[in-house]
Amino acid sequence: MSEDLQYEVLPNDYKEYNMSFKIIIIGDCGVGKSCLTLKATKNIFNNDYQPTIGFEFCTFTLKMKTKKETKIVKCQIWDTCGQEAYRSLVSSFYKNSSLAFIVYAINDKNSFNHIESWLNEVKYHNPDIKIFLIGSKADLDNERQVSINEAQEIVKEHKFQFFMETSAKTGFNAQNVFIECAKTLYLEYSNYNNLKVEENVNGFIVNQPRINNDKNSQNENYRKKACC
Ligand code: GDP
Ligand code: MG
Repeated sequence: MSEDLQYEVLPNDYKEYNMSFKIIIIGDCGVGKSCLTLKATKNIFNNDYQPTIGFEFCTFTLKMKTKKETKIVKCQIWDTCGQEAYRSLVSSFYKNSSLAFIVYAINDKNSFNHIESWLNEVKYHNPDIKIFLIGSKADLDNERQVSINEAQEIVKEHKFQFFMETSAKTGFNAQNVFIECAKTLYLEYSNYNNLKVEENVNGFIVNQPRINNDKNSQNENYRKKACC
């Protein structure tokens, strides 16, 4: 199915969609979570550090085309801060997200060493969540403290769905990680095509994906986990 998948990034203010997923972005303060999101969604990069207060929300929308169908997939992106005061809110976002980006900066070994604690935290609230590992600030290769090999080891060890290095400064892979995220979620949920979700003009929102390989229980599972 993925071989014949074509896509087009839609403008930020595009309203219609068939499928919508929540994505949460986590990682140490200052690794570049907000800059990456801003670059991918609005093509803006700012050198001044402005810590996120609470959450910032934005969307990334992709039109997916296969031989069989055309679907519009919207990612609702929640960019988080690490502030204690927002801890309880963060936990509810973890629970409702389909996929998390854990971000470290390639020039900051500490942020890489904290990946496991971010992983434990997100998995504690949502054991089924998919994880993308993002090595940010790839333009700072001359200050690199984390090799691609080290990152790939962690990806293998924890069975993360995807890994990519990015740079919000140069734009390197900034949109690609969100494209990959929309594709991953679309491909998983296109299994539900037989439910004709596209007939609902408001699309459908998936709160917590949990694919059950038992065919007979798939529709039941969908009804429990998704709402319109
Ligand atoms: P957050 O706390 O994880 O959201 O971090 P920010 O996105 O606010 O970025 C923290 C700092 O890192 C800011 O000063 C940014 O300008 C800088 N920064 C973010 N992304 C990059 C990048 O890709 N390359 C470089 N060189 N600096 C970056
Ligand atoms: Mg931020």
